[in-house]
Amino acid sequence: MTDEKYDIVIIGSGLGGLLCGNILALEGHKVCVLEKHHQIGGNLQTFKRDGCIFDTGMHYVGCLNKGEIIYQLYSYLNILGRIDLQKLDIDGFDIIDIAGDEYNLAQGYDNFSATLKSYFPDEADVIDKYVNELKDNWDSSGFLNLRDFNPDDFAASLEKHSASAYEFIESLSDNERLKAVLTCNNGLFAGSKEKTPLYVLANINNFFIKSAWRLSGGGSQLADVLKENIENLGGKVLTKKEVVGFNFNEKDIESVTVNNNEKYYADRFISNTHPQVTIDMIETGRLRKPFISRLKSLKNTISSFSLFLVLKKDTFKHINHNVYYSKDNNVWDINNKPEHIWPHGYLMYTTPAPNSEFAESITFVSMMKFSDVEKWSDTTIEKRGDEYKAFKKEKAEALIDLFEKRQPNIREITKSYYTATPLTYRDYTGTVEGSMYGIEKDYHHPLKTFVPVKNKIPNLYFTGQNINIHGMLGVSMGALITCAYFMDLNKLIKNIREAE
Ligand SMILES: Cc1cc2nc3c(=O)[nH]c(=O)nc-3n(C[C@H](O)[C@H](O)[C@H](O)COP(=O)(O)OP(=O)(O)OC[C@H]3O[C@@H](n4cnc5c(N)ncnc54)[C@H](O)[C@@H]3O)c2cc1C
Repeated sequence: MTDEKYDIVIIGSGLGGLLCGNILALEGHKVCVLEKHHQIGGNLQTFKRDGCIFDTGMHYVGCLNKGEIIYQLYSYLNILGRIDLQKLDIDGFDIIDIAGDEYNLAQGYDNFSATLKSYFPDEADVIDKYVNELKDNWDSSGFLNLRDFNPDDFAASLEKHSASAYEFIESLSDNERLKAVLTCNNGLFAGSKEKTPLYVLANINNFFIKSAWRLSGGGSQLADVLKENIENLGGKVLTKKEVVGFNFNEKDIESVTVNNNEKYYADRFISNTHPQVTIDMIETGRLRKPFISRLKSLKNTISSFSLFLVLKKDTFKHINHNVYYSKDNNVWDINNKPEHIWPHGYLMYTTPAPNSEFAESITFVSMMKFSDVEKWSDTTIEKRGDEYKAFKKEKAEALIDLFEKRQPNIREITKSYYTATPLTYRDYTGTVEGSMYGIEKDYHHPLKTFVPVKNKIPNLYFTGQNINIHGMLGVSMGALITCAYFMDLNKLIKNIREAE
């Protein structure tokens, strides 16, 4: 039992938990972040194999030019200058490779349009229409533009939640290749023809087109800086503290139980864990049944399989961009269709060797359904057996086979490789079925697939990728929405807008 009582206990040290912890500590709250693993960060975690450091999840972010939203947020939190960032290639931060034909996605709206028009000169109007729709989505959000909260802005952005991403792309043109190029990087939001709302496609693409950067010091650097900030402000970030239950007094939550043997007391609690996991820790009767059934019925986005290749020294030049590969123009639901033979496509990027123009490693991410590994779902890390090891090897080899089309000598230059499956993601981040981006948004039911920050329990709040959208953009905006329940939202927005 811990004697100390906190103003706010935050469960989970993913980006959402750490951002809330930092912002609320800055506001003078005494915060404590509890993380179940030995390493903080959730999807910001890194790991080391064969001398190379790999990111488990987040590796590139957008909007870090001076004045852009993440630049302003990082300025406000005094993060700039304390993490290593590398601007990706201006004329091609993402390279789309469709069956061997390459197309650059460039940074800056004008550059983006001009580059695409050079490949598709007859489709200039279509490209303009696409870019204008993207801009319109961004402009309609008060938050993304750091405007003071205005209900009209909110209503306008909600309207965008009911439009379909796929239908918008289909409506643009009959040119199948252009439409595939515009959406081949849809692994960034696990794009689904049937469900993905237009604003998700639009704002994630806006985010990177404005400016695209690699977290070159690894995602864990960001988590470490946020932890340091929290601690400098008198807060705590504690690892190996798995929250297993909430303890109630008559009215609300009094404490959380950690590792079955400790209690942490606070006035208010923020859960950064997946909401479907959080509600399982709450005793019956505290939440309304319809709320529980709605939350439980929500589907999660697909998971992923990652392949981490360690390269022999000086064999492969580092590339300062991402490559999104697809076997053909069929880029939606890329590994989620029975007719697709896995893998249908992948994202790949390299990590440079220190002070070298060569890469020390390559990371591949390819979407994978949880059902592919479900038979091992009762096992734990490192104890899943030989059949599982054989499965991982087979999938790794299939990805390497596909990459051989770009890089025929890949096997010769590979020193060793490591893999992560949906089970790895499930067990390292506590996300249901290892889902990449949490609860799937559905443009048919925008409000139903929306997880509110607040619920019936007076002192419990949610944050993280499930309450807004995922990724650096979505989770950061989600943290601001959560923090608005603890402070004046317009004051927070102003502080971020005016941070230097
Ligand atoms: C493979 C992959 C690549 C990605 N690449 C990018 C990218 O390049 N750019 C980008 O912007 N986004 C990317 N994303 C998305 C981004 O990483 C996530 O949206 C974001 O990091 C999620 O943050 P979060 O705060 O919601 O939670 P999470 O990162 O899921 O963290 C939740 C934390 O809660 C902890 N926890 C869970 N249960 C408990 C418990 N009971 N007690 C205590 N702690 C608990 C977990 O251990 C974890 O640390 C990627 C995601 C994946 C999977």
